[in-house]
Amino acid sequence: MSAPLFAIKDLSVSYGTGPAALENISLAMAAGERLAIIGESGSGKSTLALAIAGLLPADARMSGRIDWAGARPELGRDIGFVFQDPGASLDPVLTIGEQVAEAARARPGVNWAAAYKIAESLLERVRLPDPARALRAFPHQLSGGQRQRVAIAAAIAAGPRLLIADEATSALDMVVQAEIVGLLDQLVSEDGMSLLLITHDMALASGLAGRLAVFEKARLVEEGPAERVLRAPASDYTRRLIKAHIGLDAPMLVTGLP
Ligand code: ADP
Ligand code: MG
Repeated sequence: MSAPLFAIKDLSVSYGTGPAALENISLAMAAGERLAIIGESGSGKSTLALAIAGLLPADARMSGRIDWAGARPELGRDIGFVFQDPGASLDPVLTIGEQVAEAARARPGVNWAAAYKIAESLLERVRLPDPARALRAFPHQLSGGQRQRVAIAAAIAAGPRLLIADEATSALDMVVQAEIVGLLDQLVSEDGMSLLLITHDMALASGLAGRLAVFEKARLVEEGPAERVLRAPASDYTRRLIKAHIGLDAPMLVTGLP
């Protein structure tokens, strides 16, 4: 195995006085690895992503540890985060160029003019139709898929080691979803980033990630190479996820699956 990126030990998180959103999670990621976190809605996937990114809200109580190889990473510089809703990460009153350039300024020694140049080349890389024009556009002037491309450009603008994509394609229609998945695949390979892919979609997870970690009700129920997990799932829950394949946000009892 290559160099470690981080190791999580006995991580538990709860919000306010609520029940545990994560319970005793231990999980490590290697540099350059692609790991998918999979599970139904409410299983704790986003909580894990937020904990890793240092983004848990103030009322969250956390115990356990996240040990990083080297210095503790900084969000926006060492970690890029793509949310399900690009509206959550884009500011409606700033142009696309300003926002992606602002993200690029987290690179050491990059002034505003250089950052703006980087922003334009990033908009090309995420294949926005007219990058020069998109630089001057506001988020509402773009489609949902285009906004997500911009959010991805901003997330990778500083050259992070780790890209976290939390249901980054779930809100998009199928065709756009496939394009964005292809884009993530390409960018992660080209830049040598590690990818933490959060999804409820088993097909997406196994297509993009080499290793799967399956969460059920705040617990890590199994993890291993994607190929092995699919071929020989160790838990009943994983078996059901594989069978369900689609619509995992719907409760399984309702779908009538075994
Ligand atoms: P997933 O991403 O797998 O859908 P989450 O990590 O968002 O799961 O949620 C795990 C649990 O924590 C759920 O029961 C959810 O209702 C709860 N939760 C998530 N965020 C908050 C929050 N900010 N405040 C209170 N409870 C939360
Ligand atoms: Mg979530």
